[in-house]
Amino acid sequence: MNETPRKNLSKELLESYRVKPGQPVQLGTVDPTATGPFERKKRARAELELLRDELVELQECFYAWDKRSLLIVLQAMDTGGKDGAIEHVMKGTNPQGVEVTSFKVPTAEELSHDYLWRVHKATPARRMIGIFNRSHYEDVLVVRVHSLVPEEVWSQRYEQIREFEELLAANGTVILKFYLHISKDEQARRLQARLDDPNKRWKFAKGDLKERALWDDYMAAYADALNRTSTEDAPWYVVPANHKWYRNLVIMSILVDTLKSLNPTYPDPEEGLDDVVIE
Ligand code: ADP
Repeated sequence: MNETPRKNLSKELLESYRVKPGQPVQLGTVDPTATGPFERKKRARAELELLRDELVELQECFYAWDKRSLLIVLQAMDTGGKDGAIEHVMKGTNPQGVEVTSFKVPTAEELSHDYLWRVHKATPARRMIGIFNRSHYEDVLVVRVHSLVPEEVWSQRYEQIREFEELLAANGTVILKFYLHISKDEQARRLQARLDDPNKRWKFAKGDLKERALWDDYMAAYADALNRTSTEDAPWYVVPANHKWYRNLVIMSILVDTLKSLNPTYPDPEEGLDDVVIE
């Protein structure tokens, strides 16, 4: 039988998606249609399945290990694929060890606290993988684009966010941040698809068109957020996301590599189990 050779995404390629401190990324120069070494989804299928098996095993061990927590931050423009990424990347993992938090327009109670209050409460406990569907980054994105607070306020938040994430990291949380990078054309296609498909219409909000009109402002806000808050302990990755399967592949590869590098192990069993007889 002819085995398809593994063409896994090289460390260098994945590394090229990381925003390095001191080397600002310009989003206009990152190709959202990139698919790495794969021409088509069909060619990546075997790789996706292998990664899924690895991820499922690693998550089980990470949970049992009970030494660290993992926080995944997902940010994207509307239709950028946050929901799809969560669904497809985490498929098959044990839901008991995964917690998704979706951050919406803050409630009155949330607004009466500092902006990190609701975020800190939602950070994953040890052994858990926490996924933020939107996050504290909204407080330097939508908040900045719509001037919901004055510039003196939002401009201080980059440093505050860096320090907050440093605190989490110093206390055992591993942090990965993904910006799902789609083109403006791709957003148009996805919005149209939502209008055309009766099962997707519920996802269409007229307000999305207002945000779309502010695309350039959002790109500027994203570039600043990524460049000012990508650190060694809490790196941002710009994930080419026009092709959903490639987006999933990149995220899964980074996730698998990160979990592997932690080297989780199953806890030692109690002593003397060899003599135990179940009657
Ligand atoms: P999603 O688009 O993530 O699937 P929604 O359609 O409910 O979910 O949108 C959530 C909305 O909440 C987005 O428009 C987002 O910009 C907004 N939002 C999230 N966090 C904040 C925040 N801190 N301040 C203002 N708006 C926020």
